[in-house]
Amino acid sequence: MSRIIGIDLGTTNSCVAIHFDGEAVVVANAEGGRTTPSVVAITETGEELVGALARRQAVTNPEATVLAVKRLIGRRYDSPEARDCASVYAYSIVEAPNGDAWVHVRERDYSPQEISSFILRKLKEAAEEYLGEEVTRAIITVPAHFGDSERQATRDAGRLAGLDVERIINEPTAAALAYGVSEEREGLFAVYDLGGGTFDITLLEVRNGVFEVRATSGDTFLGGEDFDNRIIEILVREFQETHGIDLHEERMAMQRLREAAERAKQELSTTTSTEINLPFIAVTDAGPQHLARRLTRGELEDVCAELIERTLGPCQEVLDFAGLTPADMDEVILVGGMTRMPAVQEAVRGFFGRDASRGVNPDEVVAVGAATQGGVLSGEVADVLLLDVTPLSLGVETAGGVFTKLVPQNTTIPVTVAEIFTTAVDNQPFVEVHVLQGERPMAADNRSLARFQLVDLPPAPRGVPKIKVEFHIDANGIVEVTALDEATGKEQRVRVEAASGLTEQEIGRILEEAAASKEDDEERKARADIQNRLRAMLYSVRKSFADLGDRLEEEQRTDIGTMIDESDRILSDEDDVVVLRETLEGLEGAAYLIADAVYAASAEE
Ligand code: AMP
Repeated sequence: MSRIIGIDLGTTNSCVAIHFDGEAVVVANAEGGRTTPSVVAITETGEELVGALARRQAVTNPEATVLAVKRLIGRRYDSPEARDCASVYAYSIVEAPNGDAWVHVRERDYSPQEISSFILRKLKEAAEEYLGEEVTRAIITVPAHFGDSERQATRDAGRLAGLDVERIINEPTAAALAYGVSEEREGLFAVYDLGGGTFDITLLEVRNGVFEVRATSGDTFLGGEDFDNRIIEILVREFQETHGIDLHEERMAMQRLREAAERAKQELSTTTSTEINLPFIAVTDAGPQHLARRLTRGELEDVCAELIERTLGPCQEVLDFAGLTPADMDEVILVGGMTRMPAVQEAVRGFFGRDASRGVNPDEVVAVGAATQGGVLSGEVADVLLLDVTPLSLGVETAGGVFTKLVPQNTTIPVTVAEIFTTAVDNQPFVEVHVLQGERPMAADNRSLARFQLVDLPPAPRGVPKIKVEFHIDANGIVEVTALDEATGKEQRVRVEAASGLTEQEIGRILEEAAASKEDDEERKARADIQNRLRAMLYSVRKSFADLGDRLEEEQRTDIGTMIDESDRILSDEDDVVVLRETLEGLEGAAYLIADAVYAASAEE
């Protein structure tokens, strides 16, 4: 059986680790990076770029470069999250036929699952390169606060990348697992996870190898990108005041601002002031305009104070839920690149009254934990048990549009809850069950997961039919609902199809397309390889022919001269790999002939 790799599929960066030889190791990608930017771009020629390569060309290709797609995964087009992304990123967000938010890049619509699968595939390939074998099984982490649709969509992204997702685990839980196992710590852990796009806080109790999550909370729309946006807003506002130009309208300028803002933010974690310099950011009647500004750590902290403050509400919430105080914590663990910001560390220290633990790199700790859980599932890591909780309540809509909770948030998963439903009028032929997830009292304010009808009920007075509906949340936090008509003894099982996400047919179609383009990609690569070799060979034959051609017989000289001209033409005109290969072989023959002639001549001398 193949190994189970651990993947942290982040908003900004992703990371892959493998449990290997008794410990979890982070695997570098093809470019040598231990983390891979979660960026996907489609070039003019239709080539997919993933990671650092995609990120590097984002400024010149902003509309076809998809950043932070995790913010859209499992989201509806009309959700505030999708609207927010649309206002911030240069790529287009469109409404899919099922109402989900998709992205439109170069004449094609892509689901966020598909874009995520390109990133996952790259990480899978890095792991395969490292192990020297095919990898088909993975554990993928998600923010603890992700609901059912985001989890299902993440699992589908894994499938599209050719991975069986054995388990979806929560990022903070993975981080705690990495600490608990590799650093052999026990007690009450608070994991504060502030990444590129999301914030999570989780309290866990770790005793004798049992990792039990006590409570979790967070904000799926609060992360490093919001900090970057605060800097961008200062720069855009000041530029408008000085030059009367609104840079929001300039897509390329916005992408340059985004990169500069993020760089400045990161630099201000170690220095107290930094220079932002963007020459030629816009052109006015007066000529090209430049943006140059010094930004201090104090200014950054001022504009971001409210964002940091917002993380403390959920911290208090989880403590209240678990009936604990900050002083009860034995360890505070920081996860996510944003926790490098001194003001964030200060806020966490102020709240919990203690310094955070260091030890495992905050960018890698989640992937390391996921790989450790992979080791647990494959039996390589013994005596570790993970007990997670559901971050959101699950329930149904009842009379008057009220949301009735069946599984409250922070219930240990997996869990199964059954409820008996009946009819409201005589001879009612069906009942409708509307399943929702969320914390608001009215159904309409929560996230609708599924709506289904149990039909063909035999005629009966109202209240008599007994239909048992079972709600199950599995260890991945994914919800399944089944229904059984008990009244007549007749079994009627209904499985709920999620209202959003990709259908089986869509997944099948995308997989087929990927398989087809894989052949194309390989062919393109083979062609590029052979063209490179041919170019190099042509250069060297031409050079030795010019230097040593006079030592050849007259006939050989004519033949090789013609061959050089013909190869030149083929290199610029021909696409056919077979023709290219034959030309290369011909030139190799010519190179040997010249070498032979030279040796023969020098032997005679
Ligand atoms: P993650 O999703 O955990 O990879 O976190 C990425 C976020 O952390 C991005 O918004 C980064 O800009 C931010 N980040 C990374 N390094 C630093 C740093 N040294 N100081 C401040 N923020 C950082």
